[in-house]
Amino acid sequence: MTNWQQLVQAVEPLQDLELDTELVRGLERLGHQVGHRARERAAPPVHFYTPTFKSYETSEIKSCGKNAWPAVSVTGSECKLQCDHCKAAILEPMIPARTPDDLWRVVNELIDDGANGLLLTGGSNHRNEVEYAPYYETIRRIKDSHPEFRIAAHAALMDRDAAFAMADAGVDVAMMDVIGAQETITNVYHLRRSVDDFEATLENLVRTSMRVVPHIVIGLHYGRMLGEWRALEIIQRHLPDAVVLVVVMPFYAPEKKPFVTPDSSDVGRFFQSARQALPDTSLLLGCARPPGESRMEIDTYAVMAGLDGIAHPADGAVELAARLGRRVRVTPACCSIVVGDEVMAVQNASDGLELDVDTIVREEARRRAGSRGIGIPVVSAPAPGTEIPV
Ligand code: SF4
Repeated sequence: MTNWQQLVQAVEPLQDLELDTELVRGLERLGHQVGHRARERAAPPVHFYTPTFKSYETSEIKSCGKNAWPAVSVTGSECKLQCDHCKAAILEPMIPARTPDDLWRVVNELIDDGANGLLLTGGSNHRNEVEYAPYYETIRRIKDSHPEFRIAAHAALMDRDAAFAMADAGVDVAMMDVIGAQETITNVYHLRRSVDDFEATLENLVRTSMRVVPHIVIGLHYGRMLGEWRALEIIQRHLPDAVVLVVVMPFYAPEKKPFVTPDSSDVGRFFQSARQALPDTSLLLGCARPPGESRMEIDTYAVMAGLDGIAHPADGAVELAARLGRRVRVTPACCSIVVGDEVMAVQNASDGLELDVDTIVREEARRRAGSRGIGIPVVSAPAPGTEIPV
């Protein structure tokens, strides 16, 4: 029987990767356990959000400039925290809405422009709170006027009243980063709050009617693993709707406090732990992760660990998933749609086209040969027992 290390060798773009053999063996064992459990229920597909699976490009994707899920910041580019990995740079490209009137105007323009929803965020105050309270009346007005328009908000830290106020305003999805190491909170975030404050926020959010999608930023402690496992334990205690994993992208780290690129095997081991800890929770790998070979290794481990969704997969990841016997769905998506779909992930589980392994292998080979493919209509899943070509 072909083992997973050999299956990777059959995927051209992944052939030269130096994977951690022990980790691959461990993921294979986990895969067989998960596969066994999945056969007892309906096996969930792995969802790929990709702008690069050319045959499935749509006109909507080609015009990625049109933003289906724009990000709006209630503080513009200002943030009091100035965390070491970000320095508020994440806010720079966002649409500013510094007053409730601005938000109302911006949202109406976005709706006229075809947006499905927005990601609402803002810089933090010194307590890692985004001061949304003045906006809640406007958010309520937006939701009453446009009930189909979705609002996903980055919650930061919140007490119980603030969480319920956000839900009452009509926010559909609350996101937050769960940090599990005090050293990271103190040193990277320059914040006088505790790990317990992050846990309390998650607990408050899951008690509301909002969908809750926490994120774990892998390598947040200057590129090293520190609080990730504790963050996972926290999430296990307050089961949310889905969890997004991202790998730190420290483009803005100051020279005096550099970040290393997280070790791919450590990231893979964390995927393994996350899958084991949250067997029935949708686990998604978000857009942010280091480029190049790291990304290829990380995505290979993500597929092997059985994550439910991968945004912008590295070359070869879709084919690998099919060769490992996973059901594969491909949704053409540029980053803003991915972010929106991530947070709505559990709602849109049937989106995308389900592809069989022969189609994927054929299309990938064509693409690598430089052809754009011909655009294939919906293809059904492989019949049970279909031989996987190696
Ligand atoms: S609080 Fe958020 S926006 Fe502000 S610097 Fe930190 S990560 Fe960036």
